Amino acid sequence: MKTVGFIGLGNMGVPMAANIRRGGYEVVGFDLDPARAKAFAQEHNARATDQLAELGRACDAIVTMLPTGREVRDALFNMQGGALAANLRPGAFIIDMSSADPVGTRELGKDVAARKLVLVDAPVSGGVPRAKDGSLAIMIGGDADAVAAVKPVLACMGNKLFEVGSLGCGHAMKCLNNFLAAASFAAASEAMTVGRKFGLDPAVLADVVNVSTGRSFVSENLLKQHVLSGVFGTGFALGLLAKDVRIAADLADQIGVDAPVGRLISGMWADARDALGGEQDHTRAVIHWEKRALP
Ligand code: NAD
Repeated sequence: MKTVGFIGLGNMGVPMAANIRRGGYEVVGFDLDPARAKAFAQEHNARATDQLAELGRACDAIVTMLPTGREVRDALFNMQGGALAANLRPGAFIIDMSSADPVGTRELGKDVAARKLVLVDAPVSGGVPRAKDGSLAIMIGGDADAVAAVKPVLACMGNKLFEVGSLGCGHAMKCLNNFLAAASFAAASEAMTVGRKFGLDPAVLADVVNVSTGRSFVSENLLKQHVLSGVFGTGFALGLLAKDVRIAADLADQIGVDAPVGRLISGMWADARDALGGEQDHTRAVIHWEKRALP
């Protein structure tokens, strides 16, 4: 594998694509906003195109890092008359690293296979800082041979690679992880609001929790750094996290599992997104919940 196309040069995509380039691959960038692809190419000694046919002809594999599975399907089969799928050579790999819905991924896998292309799902965790330093956790789903073939590309972006099962299992793993993170954030926000109202200093609350049994990724990395500081700048949008929790709740529904916590947490994040706007940093949700809690 020599040339990798990268679609979706946003907060995560730019540093991830830059690391593939650093790993020695030719990289061709594409984004709905061509200025993003151009800026990426200039900064990282890569190429950019706004033509999906050209991208398909040039590349052995395509990485997608897009908001949802819908954009992944669009990029492959709908945009520019379906030029990407039509121009990729048989056997080319599609590596979907977006946080997409697992059931949709399995459906997409059938359509991809019908074009003699190979889909692997490989969503990530670690956020922008770990995308930059190439230390993402990557949850890989797909056929074993396909996974083995794409692993060297994935290893440029992450150092914790997990083969979690068949196609769609990566996306299932990812939405469940983000459900846990989202539930933890919602609980930590509530604890801060209750503590503050009673007279606790939220900074002290965070310090105590961080050396006690209530600690979590959220308490250690988000409370003081992004909530109490008022920085709200993790680079992970509220709309994207609300989408991930919704995917987890929907997954439970689709496979017939009663998941009351998932429904509750999904509703809370949807509420915050609708009130504040999906483009806001997800840590701002605390402002909305606190307002509702203290009318
Ligand atoms: P982003 O909004 O910063 O970037 C998305 C990019 O995709 C944008 O540049 C946009 O122009 C482009 N795009 C949208 N539709 C397109 C299309 N049809 N064709 C081509 N380009 C298109 O999002 P992000 O934060 O980089 O997240 C990307 C994915 O990674 C999401 O699924 C998100 O849930 C997941 N994720 C994000 C983080 C994070 O911390 N930001 C962490 C892990 C996973």
